[in-house]
Amino acid sequence: MHIDNTYVRGNKLDIEALFAIVDVTHDVLELQDAIPHRLQEFEDVLSDKTDEPDIDIGAHCNKPYECDTKEYCWRVQREIPEYSVFSIFNLGSKKQVALYEQGIVDIKDIPDDFEMTNKPKQYQTTKQRRVL
Ligand code: SF4
Repeated sequence: MHIDNTYVRGNKLDIEALFAIVDVTHDVLELQDAIPHRLQEFEDVLSDKTDEPDIDIGAHCNKPYECDTKEYCWRVQREIPEYSVFSIFNLGSKKQVALYEQGIVDIKDIPDDFEMTNKPKQYQTTKQRRVL
């Protein structure tokens, strides 16, 4: 069943006309014999650890949503510890990536002169707001 792209809505939605029902049984049966071979190809690709794509981690791993393979790319492939520069609240992904690109992932390795982001106002004490 799929949207019938030839349907044009009038004043009222005709739900029966909006969808088209197509019998694809014959097409599916024709493809069935190839499934075991396809599955073996998938297995081969997934088990090949030497020719993995070499795409670095970054903000794209969380946007527009968290990638399903983040655990593997971050923890296994890149050995990012559970608590790292990426765990720092409000550092902002650009600064986190900047540190990572300098080879700094451990919080204790952040240089003293690295410019951190101020706490958002709602988390500052009154005294901190006066100073800033
Ligand atoms: S976690 Fe996902 S988006 Fe990030 S590098 Fe790995 S595969 Fe790419």
